[in-house]
Amino acid sequence: MRFPLALTLKITRHILKHKIRRTPKFAMVLQLEPLHTCNLTCTGCGRIREYSTDLKDMMSLEACLESTEDCDAPMVSICGGEPLIYPEIEELVNGLRSQKRIIYICTNGMFMRRKMKDYMKTLPLTEKESFIRKLSEENLINEKDAADIRKGATKKKDVIAPSKWLYWNVHLDGLEYIHDLIVEREGVFRECVDAMKMAKILGYQVATNTTVYKETEVKEIEGMFRFLADLGVDGHTISPGYDYDAAKKDMSKRLGKDPEEFFLTREMTRQKFAGIQEWTKHFNIFGTPVYHEFLAGKRELTCTAWAIPTRNIRGWKAPCYLMTAGHYPKYQEMLDEVDWDSYGVVNGEAKDPRCENCMVHCGYDPSGALGTNYQRGDNWKNIKYNFGPKPEYRGTEEVQAFNGVSIGKGHLAEAKAAIRKNGGTPVGASCTSEKPVLSTHSVDETNPVDSSTDEAI
Ligand code: SF4
Ligand code: SF4
Repeated sequence: MRFPLALTLKITRHILKHKIRRTPKFAMVLQLEPLHTCNLTCTGCGRIREYSTDLKDMMSLEACLESTEDCDAPMVSICGGEPLIYPEIEELVNGLRSQKRIIYICTNGMFMRRKMKDYMKTLPLTEKESFIRKLSEENLINEKDAADIRKGATKKKDVIAPSKWLYWNVHLDGLEYIHDLIVEREGVFRECVDAMKMAKILGYQVATNTTVYKETEVKEIEGMFRFLADLGVDGHTISPGYDYDAAKKDMSKRLGKDPEEFFLTREMTRQKFAGIQEWTKHFNIFGTPVYHEFLAGKRELTCTAWAIPTRNIRGWKAPCYLMTAGHYPKYQEMLDEVDWDSYGVVNGEAKDPRCENCMVHCGYDPSGALGTNYQRGDNWKNIKYNFGPKPEYRGTEEVQAFNGVSIGKGHLAEAKAAIRKNGGTPVGASCTSEKPVLSTHSVDETNPVDSSTDEAI
């Protein structure tokens, strides 16, 4: 199956329960943002620009666990910021497991290996030695790591252990060159790959989440899926990047760019995703076939952002993950007070101009699952897709995944030099490279590979 049976059944039961009770609006997935601190500054990320990224500003563990009870979503996506910086991430994950939630840890991958080494320290000796041998053979740990793991002491009482209820959900926007360019730091792709390899050896479930931008080539996405299939990655979420407020402001102010050069319009999204139904035959793309038809331009859906609500330090964020019109203390209060009909696109008309180009997963995938724009056969289509066999990619085409700094194409160094030459001001096409894609990116010299956040975890 595309998703473990127990998890699919849990979600199905949740939908049926609310359908029988005729609950008008309910949560399917909670996007929980315990903090907004991050060790990266990705292009297109509004989060770290809209909210305080001070480590002092975070939700308490109790508030995090209460918020899941408040909306009662069966799935919780722990995001941020970088959630592995959250000091009580282990306690949060284990608290959610006690509540029997399906958990996604949405991470940029940079601290995953550290967390998995903590888990290894708690294993029985023979199991530990067997993993140390396998990981050393793959160069995923060094001798010092092995010695630390053998010593066994971890500063933490709790650890993040593998479970069928848990996925690492790694942010990956392309292969090495593109991904490092988008996250504005070289070496991130390689670290993500090493972390995913280590996770698979240790028995974790691994998914990826990808945002597609204007200059992301379809070939790049397909190559990435092929490469991830070889790594044994369990599934993928993919969504179009559109010009929501916070990201748009960053694009204009910090990078001096016209957002139109970077983000997708509705029409462009449909072009980029025209092949998504074909991709789902070969790769395990999560979501509903109804949403995929919407992305491919084959039907319309209305927005159901209330089904994937966001909770952060300021409360329940309305109306959606991307746009902010207010924050509410309770999920039900947000449901009752927001005028949901004033958002989304209905019959080609944008109810709010900021929704015009939005076709994102968190606004429209639940519409496919909940049958808000039901067409005959949709239920059967969704059941067949999610209860059907997990696709196995059988292609043999080799993918050159390490096509950036690993082969000497260190684009950020060139970009920084260009910035310095221009007196430190972010410049236009500063990423001069052999590969002219994503030329709209620039580089922030203050990119905080923040050692203080590193120390904090
Ligand atoms: S990893 Fe990138 S996209 Fe994610 S929160 Fe950090 S800066 Fe934003
Ligand atoms: S269409 Fe829905 S998800 Fe998209 S910006 Fe509007 S309210 Fe948010």
